[in-house]
Order: sequence, then structure tokens, then C-alpha cells
Amino acid sequence: MATIDLRSLSQEELTEQLKSKGYPAFRAKQIREWLDRGITDFEQMTNLPKDLRQTLAELYSVPGITIVRKLVSAIDGTVKYLFQLDDGETVESVLMQYKHGWSQCLSTQVGCKMGCTFCATGLGGFIRNLSAAEMIAQIEAAQQDAGVRVSSIVLMGMGEPLDNYDQVVRFLRMLGEEGGVHIGMRHISLSTCGVVPAIYRLMEEQIPLTLSISLHAPNDEIRSRSMPVNRRWPMDELLRACRDYIAATGRRISFEYAMIDGVNDSDAHAAELADRLHGMLCHVNLIPVNAVAGKSQRRSSRERIRSFMDVLQKKGINATVRRTLGADINASCGQLRRQQDQQGE
Ligand code: SAH
Ligand code: SF4
Repeated sequence: MATIDLRSLSQEELTEQLKSKGYPAFRAKQIREWLDRGITDFEQMTNLPKDLRQTLAELYSVPGITIVRKLVSAIDGTVKYLFQLDDGETVESVLMQYKHGWSQCLSTQVGCKMGCTFCATGLGGFIRNLSAAEMIAQIEAAQQDAGVRVSSIVLMGMGEPLDNYDQVVRFLRMLGEEGGVHIGMRHISLSTCGVVPAIYRLMEEQIPLTLSISLHAPNDEIRSRSMPVNRRWPMDELLRACRDYIAATGRRISFEYAMIDGVNDSDAHAAELADRLHGMLCHVNLIPVNAVAGKSQRRSSRERIRSFMDVLQKKGINATVRRTLGADINASCGQLRRQQDQQGE
């Protein structure tokens, strides 16, 4: 008989299923706590009665996630994992330490369909969606390995979260549950390349997360060249969705802008960007672009980035330069999996 993936059940669903078998609700909570500590073998869940452990083993499985590679930054302690999933596919995840605690960057897909030209994940194409359970498992595995508690999540690893909408929303709802991993929505950021209909759907969910939009360009001409998604939903449509999102949720949007030398980083580009974002409740994150093997893109100089930021600020747009973490371990996502793939070829 096929077993059910235990991690894919919400706390409520698990409680219901155990209740129907005559077990009290607190058993579901105990099981979550074990999973949270990285224990996936029912026999090791020693506070459960023996008959329950047997029932669990018959009906459920807990898909494993194993660490294939792990790099630790000597500069700032950032940890980058390459995780292997049950079917042998691999995804990356990064654990970063901030003043307020540990933040983890998660993957939502193996690969990505969106094909952004500057992105290592995009280069490798799309393989499959991750399940909500596989997203939770990345947190559990990192927490257990590093011996820390993750207090905030960014969905900025491999994949386009809004192209895996149902599983991502399911994952977000699971995070909000008591017990288990439990991270409040105010500590979650979701980054999208701009899948406009899904932004509208997300608005309806009333999940108070922080929405990040990967903009990376001040106009359609530049954006369509590096982000094919822009040909489907051009900037006007995307920015209209952003304004609607802000109006509906009252929440500030964060725009990601990777600074690429000679491509999107002039003062004129900054002025154009500021005009388009005029009056919006938003913040612009300037990110020196990361080099990707086989791509000639170079990051803008510090002076260029500074000057770009000044233009934005003078025009009333909130902007900061993102601090680079894990510079020595190539902490931007998509690179480690590619290296591993290429070694295997
Ligand atoms: N697919 C989503 C989330 C994952 S990508 C998205 O595109 O938003 C996470 C972030 O990394 C995005 O802002 C993406 O544009 C950015 N990114 C991708 N490749 C990069 C690179 N080489 N240098 C800097 N940022 C990059
Ligand atoms: Fe996909 Fe995001 Fe990379 Fe674009 S930047 S290819 S959307 S992961």
C-alpha cells in the first residue's frame, strides 16, 4: 500500500487522521516536534506509544532530504547547502545570520522555466515543482544540521514561487501553524519575476508576507532582453499589479534590482526607474549582480551603484544596497547545483 507523505499534511489534517484512529490531538503535536528536530524514523519517536509508532510506519512515510554538499563562509558564517531529494534531484538553500536571528533562503522548484539570462538557475531549465513538504524539509534539515532556529524565510532560492502557486501557498499556511516549524508571515518574503495573475491571486489570500519583485530594469526594452517573462507581462501591467497589491494589503513592496555593468546601471536608468515608481509605497534593493559561469555579465562598480542610489533617493525613492553575504562561497542560488551537474557530465 502506498504511504502518505506525513510532512505534506497540515497539523489539522494530521490531528484529524490520528483522531479517526483513536489517538488524542497532542500526539500530532509530538510528531511535528520530532520532525522539527530532524527525526524522521518513527521508532525513534520515543514518547509515542509503540502501537502508534507501528501504525505510523504502516500508513506514512517521511521523504528524506540529505545534504550532498555544504559550504560555510569564512567571512560571515553563511552556510550554503545542496540538498538531495528522494528522487535524486538537488536544490540549494542558504542560511544567513543577521542581527535579529537566522534567515533561510529556500528553493521552490528544481530549476526554473522563466529563463532569465543573468540567472544560474534559469540556465539549467525546469525539472519539477517542489512539494510543500519538501520546502518544510529544507528548513528542518538546516536547523538540525546547523543547530539553530530559523526565524525568517525568503523564497529566493531556485525556482519561481508563483509558478508553483498551490504548493507555495500550502507551505506558507503550514508555516503559520502552531507547533512544527512555525514562522510568522511577517518574517516571510516571497520573490517573483512578475507572474501578474498570480500576484492578484496572492492578494486575495490575505497572507501578510513581504512581496519582492525582481525588476532589474527601468524599461521594457532592457527588461525583455534579460527576462522573457516581461514579454508576457510588460512593466506597465506588472507595476499596475504592484500598485493594486499595495492598495489591497497596505504593505510595502520591495523591488530587486541587480546592477549589471553597462546594461541597466546609468544615472539616466535610475531617473527613469524613479519616475516609474513615483508615489509607490516601495523600497528598491540594489544588488551587485553575481557572476555566472559561461556569462559575461559584470557587476557595476561601487561608485556606479552609489551614484544610482543617490539619483533614486533624490527623487524620493527609498533605496539601499544589499549587503553581500557568503561572497566567498558563491552564495547566490543556482550555482552549486550547476557545478555538481557539470561535474557529473
Ligand atoms: N524566481 C524568483 C525568486 C528566485 S531568484 C525571482 O526571480 O524573483 C532570487 C533573486 O535572485 C531574484 O531577484 C533574481 O532576479 C536574483 N538573481 C538571479 N540571478 C542573479 C545573479 N546572477 N546576480 C544577482 N541576483 C540574481
Ligand atoms: Fe527563475 Fe528567478 Fe532565476 Fe528568473 S531569476 S530564471 S525567475 S529563478
